[in-house]
Amino acid sequence: MESGVKLASAVPRYAAGMAATVCSCPRNQLCPACHNQALMWFGGKACSRGIAWAESVARRQPALLRQAWPGHEGRAAELARIKVRDLSDDPSVIDVPARDVSEHAARRWRQPQAQVALRG
Ligand SMILES: [Zn+2]
Repeated sequence: MESGVKLASAVPRYAAGMAATVCSCPRNQLCPACHNQALMWFGGKACSRGIAWAESVARRQPALLRQAWPGHEGRAAELARIKVRDLSDDPSVIDVPARDVSEHAARRWRQPQAQVALRG
């Protein structure tokens, strides 16, 4: 019956947070459990958004393909943050997927397929 009890006693606070379907922690200051869960979920989002970002830039400004994708700093970092801003109200949570977005965009940018997107 109570299969979650053993786990919960090992790491009480953490497991309790994980087990809750709806956590009551503030959305702009997530508890560790929600924070971790959010980061896992963001991983996939950051990947697809990074790829889409690189492809859309390649489509709109094909001349830029001759240059390297900018690093995660300055305006590029700002844009990356905007790409994932809707995912969380917690600024400390947004940093991680924002970096992922930049990384995936850069990776996509280096692939020859980025130019295939121009034709689509
Ligand atoms: Zn929580």
